[in-house]
Amino acid sequence: MFIQQLKKFFLVVVILSSFLLTYLWYKDYSFNSNPLSKEIQIKVYEKHQKLKYLTNKYFNIKRVFPITITDELDSSRYGMAVYSKNGQINLYLNKKRFKENENYMINDVMPHEYAHAIMFALGNFSNENQGHTKKWQEICKKLEGLRCDRFVNHQDILIEKTNLFK
Ligand SMILES: [Zn+2]
Repeated sequence: MFIQQLKKFFLVVVILSSFLLTYLWYKDYSFNSNPLSKEIQIKVYEKHQKLKYLTNKYFNIKRVFPITITDELDSSRYGMAVYSKNGQINLYLNKKRFKENENYMINDVMPHEYAHAIMFALGNFSNENQGHTKKWQEICKKLEGLRCDRFVNHQDILIEKTNLFK
């Protein structure tokens, strides 16, 4: 009787261990396929908090624009601001670009894209200069963007057609 219980006990231990190993392997795997360190993730988070604060302070907008770091953007892009039909505004940052220069991504690209989001939130959908209007530049500067250049040569806004364009 005791031997049987002992066998059961070992069986449970073996099963639990294999779950644990699978979990550890999965953890390592997702870490390896995610090149952003905790340190960078924290910096992005802190910058996001700062941008939210400035957005509320200068534009009285309490809305939060979600930021997704993705490796699905093509490598020529640093980031994207997307206005969806349902009124949602989402920002995307290119994970691949973080490898080269995290400071550029955080201090330049984040305020740049956030300024596009604020333009959308204010109902300004101008496509002049691919969205890099004088107004956009003013907003970018208020967000403490380091280089709010109006003559960037990449297309980084996407506006899904909506009733606003009637
Ligand atoms: Zn832009």
